[in-house]
Amino acid sequence: MIELIIVAILCLCMGSFLNVVIIRTPLIQKKLEINYIEETYNVKVKESDKVDKISISFPNSKCNRCDRKLAKWMNIPLISYIILLGRCYFCKKTISKQYPTVELLTSATGTITYYTYGPTITFLSVFLLAMLFIVIAYIDINNYVIYADHESILLGSLITVTALINSDKFIYIGITYLSLALTIYIIEKIIIFIKKKETTIIGSGDFWLLAFGIGYTFNDIELGIKYLQIISISAVALYFILQRKDGKIPLIPSLSLGFMYVLTTQ
Ligand SMILES: [Zn+2]
Repeated sequence: MIELIIVAILCLCMGSFLNVVIIRTPLIQKKLEINYIEETYNVKVKESDKVDKISISFPNSKCNRCDRKLAKWMNIPLISYIILLGRCYFCKKTISKQYPTVELLTSATGTITYYTYGPTITFLSVFLLAMLFIVIAYIDINNYVIYADHESILLGSLITVTALINSDKFIYIGITYLSLALTIYIIEKIIIFIKKKETTIIGSGDFWLLAFGIGYTFNDIELGIKYLQIISISAVALYFILQRKDGKIPLIPSLSLGFMYVLTTQ
């Protein structure tokens, strides 16, 4: 029991770190893009479009409303949010619910995974994959994007976890991948033929996740139906929760949830 409490607290701190990654990665990417544009085309980007010097560890945490630096006690995962009643200590504006949500989600996932697999390599790889899912799902929700680095890590993690838990599934994943790729290719060609313009009906990160998810449920129709139900119900739920004006739905959160389900119920 004490073991699980320690795991829960450690994972809460990991969640705090994931928040930093979720918030800063898009800013770092933007900075890299601006540098690239300046160097390649030898142009100066407008000062207002520049991003502050930023990395995962720099600068220290500050309120994104009033820019005041946060004291150490305001950075304790979950506890600070509760003590501060969800508001900035200085400007009293509300702190994004993303912070406690990601911390709790990481803690809960880590604890459940540890409870299921114990202190093993399998626990470590499943939990690392779950943390990656949390990061790419939130970045997709905030920015509708999956970065190339994250996509390579995603693919590597999916292969590692499958090799550890379900190596016999590789053949189905391969078949799914090929048939999905062919289907999507044909649909895209038809759309291009009709609409006369280039189109991408599914992002490549979404595509990998879908291929692995369906591959896992290839010889288990009941699990396959459950998988598709989880994806569609959570996507619709997310649509209503986010209420985006452009009507777009980020797919990574639902695909990750569906994949975690089929992975852990094997
Ligand atoms: Zn503030």
